[in-house]
Amino acid sequence: MLRLEGIAVSHGVAIGEALVLDNEGFRIPRRFLPRNAIDSEVKRLEEALEATKVEIEKNRQRVADRLGDDYGSIFSAHAQMVSDPKLRQELVDLIVERHYSAEYSVSRVLRQYAKVFQSLDDKYLAERANDVFDIEKRLLRRLLGERREELSQVTSEVLVLARNLTPSETASMKPEFIKGFVTETGGPGGHTAIVAEGLGIPAVVGAGNFLSDVSGGETIIIDGDNGLVILRPDEETLARYRHELDEQARHAVKLKELNQLPCETKDGVRIQLHGNIEFPNETPLCLERGVDGIGLYRTEFVFLMRTEVPTEEDHFSKYLEVVESMQGRPVVMRTLDLGADKLSMIPSPDDEKNPFLGLRSIRLALKHVDIFRIQLRAILRASAYGDVRVMFPLISNLLELRRARMVLSDAMEDLEEQGIAFNRDIPVGMMVEVPSAVMMMDRFCQEVDFFSIGTNDLVQYALAVDRSNKDVAPLYTSSDPAVIRLIKMAIDTANAAGKPISMCGQMSGTPLYTMLLLGLGLRSLSVTPTAALEVKQACREVTLEECEALAKRVLSLDSARDVKTCLREELLRHLPNQII
Ligand code: PEP
Ligand code: MG
Repeated sequence: MLRLEGIAVSHGVAIGEALVLDNEGFRIPRRFLPRNAIDSEVKRLEEALEATKVEIEKNRQRVADRLGDDYGSIFSAHAQMVSDPKLRQELVDLIVERHYSAEYSVSRVLRQYAKVFQSLDDKYLAERANDVFDIEKRLLRRLLGERREELSQVTSEVLVLARNLTPSETASMKPEFIKGFVTETGGPGGHTAIVAEGLGIPAVVGAGNFLSDVSGGETIIIDGDNGLVILRPDEETLARYRHELDEQARHAVKLKELNQLPCETKDGVRIQLHGNIEFPNETPLCLERGVDGIGLYRTEFVFLMRTEVPTEEDHFSKYLEVVESMQGRPVVMRTLDLGADKLSMIPSPDDEKNPFLGLRSIRLALKHVDIFRIQLRAILRASAYGDVRVMFPLISNLLELRRARMVLSDAMEDLEEQGIAFNRDIPVGMMVEVPSAVMMMDRFCQEVDFFSIGTNDLVQYALAVDRSNKDVAPLYTSSDPAVIRLIKMAIDTANAAGKPISMCGQMSGTPLYTMLLLGLGLRSLSVTPTAALEVKQACREVTLEECEALAKRVLSLDSARDVKTCLREELLRHLPNQII
């Protein structure tokens, strides 16, 4: 049994078989061969070994020609290893005796070799593990070739283990088959984490290097509540987690009783509860949970799930699906928020040293006005079919907002000229996710109809902590007093100006913060649909007076640790069974 600690990003427990994706995204399932396929599998292995040897020799030659024989000899060691009869025999034995596929045998044997190197005290020898991984990859590339499969094609229940997963790879997972995932890299606020929560898939990120310790098909446990991953669990641990799974199922059934109850405090103050979505197919869950509308539609996923720039019709058909299914409830469409960890076919500059401070989000949209205008036309067209609102992300100064509004006005004029229906009075809002926007809130109040606080970014920009970096993850927290002060400032300014303000970052969907947010003056929250019932429950168990008293107490504290302890105690007082 091996226990790893990572960052808990999507709660729940999952127990199942590992599906290992290596660094290049190869799927290496443990596949057993029928008896009559063994000879051809051995032949496939031998061909791959031979082809890899030739490939390495070519590389050796090329490097030797350019840089001299000394450099070329780096490859000689690789070639020697691929030709090693002992290695060959070990691989063949696994195929013949255990009926493993050639790729599974390669991955298993070479990872064992790499582990031996990694465990050596000699730094030089430990680094030889990378050579072994290199050979493994070359062989797998040969063996898998065209057979490299996509995560969306997985059709049996597995837990995915990978070096990293992009937000779009995560979004392509089918929760009925992919029951959980763990990545070696990644941070608490990255979009991969957010998508996992949206899908309700238990997930741990930033678990550090562990892929060489695990083979496809092994049993693992993912504990998405505590950020733990357990490889090859013993019977006692398995039994404990199976019990935990039963408890969670019971808790989920109990929560469902809240589905159609209003989101209001114990003393009857109605709180608007909205859903955050990435895809139209999430609206049924939002409706089932009784939400008042969609507070954040991350429309950039229309881009992330394609290889070509979407047409106006591509956008429009998705938007219409959302608007129609929400049956007159408000739908806030957040305009393109690409760049940084959400890479699409729109090229970001490849020499960006700090992509999260670079050409992302509204800045990228304003750089590609033609693409932006197409999206805005589609949003406007959808506004003829329901209560559609448009919201600009990452606004950091007034001119940026004005430029975005100008593109919107242009799109309106075009539609008008063409006689296409849309709502001329479409409400226009902006996200508050940069400290400069908070400082200028009074001015922004004069130029927008509503605000939504995006804490995922506000936390990273307020505290100078990359939301996707595991090495600074402990610093990335909404409990930091500086973040809480910024949020208070934003809410106070908007409330004083009579402008609606909501919150759609992950903080609003975390019951730990519900009392604090109500106490600070928020009356509208937009949350991941999978978190809606827990937030509703947290609202229904408390009075506004209790929330305001708690907010006052929290504002007097000076460290994230004290804030968290205070919030935890208070939540457990009201909801003793809450998992936090
Ligand atoms: C946020 O930053 O809080 C937000 C909701 O936007 P995203 O997570 O998509 O960056
Ligand atoms: Mg954001």
